[in-house]
Amino acid sequence: MQSLFASQRTFFNTHQTKDISFRITQLKTFKKALQAYEPRLYDAIYRDFKKSEFDTFTTEIVLLYKEIDDSLNSLKQWSKPKRVATNWINFPAKSYILSEPYGVCLIIGAWNYPYQLSLGPAIAAMAAGNTIIVKPSELPSETAKVMYEMIVEHFPQEYFAVVEGGVSETTELLNQPFDKIFFTGSTRVGKIVYSAAAKNLIPVTLELGGKSPTFVTESCQLERTVQRLIWGKFLNAGQTCIAPDYVMVHKSIHDKFLQACTKEITKRKYAFENQNYVQIINDDHFQRLQKLINPTKLYFGGKMDKDSRYIQPTILTNTSFEDPIMKEEIFGPILPVISYDTLDDAIEQVLQLPKPLSCYVFTTKASERKKVHRKLSFGGGAVNDVVMHISNPNLPFGGVGQSGIGSYHGEAGFLAFSHQKSILHKANWLELPLKYSPLSPKKLWWIKQFFKL
Ligand code: NAD
Repeated sequence: MQSLFASQRTFFNTHQTKDISFRITQLKTFKKALQAYEPRLYDAIYRDFKKSEFDTFTTEIVLLYKEIDDSLNSLKQWSKPKRVATNWINFPAKSYILSEPYGVCLIIGAWNYPYQLSLGPAIAAMAAGNTIIVKPSELPSETAKVMYEMIVEHFPQEYFAVVEGGVSETTELLNQPFDKIFFTGSTRVGKIVYSAAAKNLIPVTLELGGKSPTFVTESCQLERTVQRLIWGKFLNAGQTCIAPDYVMVHKSIHDKFLQACTKEITKRKYAFENQNYVQIINDDHFQRLQKLINPTKLYFGGKMDKDSRYIQPTILTNTSFEDPIMKEEIFGPILPVISYDTLDDAIEQVLQLPKPLSCYVFTTKASERKKVHRKLSFGGGAVNDVVMHISNPNLPFGGVGQSGIGSYHGEAGFLAFSHQKSILHKANWLELPLKYSPLSPKKLWWIKQFFKL
């Protein structure tokens, strides 16, 4: 780790990565690497947790291509010095902000969208002119391996490297004095990463998780609500950081809502029986989820198969905030439904939990939407939809409080990997004498007059 880090530091210090032409060439190489490896990427992820080519393309690969294309199109604009106004006290001068790469960056990925979460930040780091070490999650081991092979074949290690491994390798990496650490994963490990970074005052972006609430109000369009909600919840077998974790439904439509969910799940033919549904990532998570399904609260689903790690899309009713399922992020295909009397009561209960990564509200009333947005703090979200806000590169993506620090995607990603260097550029033709000795009451009088301007 030490020598890899040192080689990247040496390479960064050649300043080559700062040239826009260098970055453009590397982004194009990245795109070619993805194109060349696409079949292998699909194969690896299917072997890891039976994620299909359809799901992998639509939720991972296409986002990577889009991120590369957006960077190629906008890089010159993003990296241009930004002129800002100069205050009178500095007259005559101009002021501007230079975006400079941090240097050697560490990116630690999570397992649930292994390509998107490891390589997406790498695209942003590359666009910003850094050198990059990616440490993908070790849980989907085939995807980690194929990413290693793809990157080592297309890039020199001193510029862009993938390190495979788990806790011990990550711990060793965290001992190096990186210039930036970008972490995606749990809040628990996020705290470990943050405290390791603090030892060297390394700036961090922490993309963490949490329990993302969904409010289904009386005024919603029920059919559309259920269609979108069920899709987003059970995508990737519920193993999505921004999946609706639980739903709060107005009591007047509670029963109708549950019936509509059953109809929708049945209609979508989640192919539990023919094993065409994403698996739970490993036995530990399977057992954890199994325990969260309280049979006395089961409304729909609940079928599971230990050997193939399948859990059927499942709905629980009569859930309370005291139930174990409401004490942790679910991260699986189980949807607890909680009925509420008033939206204010529902929001009050959500306020007792840490700030979530996402929040969704299904409503046709502006007053309900505004109430949720005003009272709750969360990373980002959607109105009358779930999950899809992640697909708009113009929306910075990230958490707040326990769900994270900082954001990325599009220009936000470029900024996450850039230091904003502020420059005051003075002209020589004039110098106001007021700040220079000998100081005098008259000078002070003049300064006070100027400050009143
Ligand atoms: P995790 O925190 O267990 O692991 C993430 C990474 O940290 C892995 O690469 C792992 O090897 C490493 N790691 C694990 N333990 C470590 C330790 N003790 N010291 C150093 N490194 C360690 O998370 P996960 O299980 O891979 O992912 C699930 C979590 O990630 C969920 O909470 C989910 O909400 C969150 N998540 C967030 C986002 C987001 O964009 N905000 C995206 C996906 C997942």
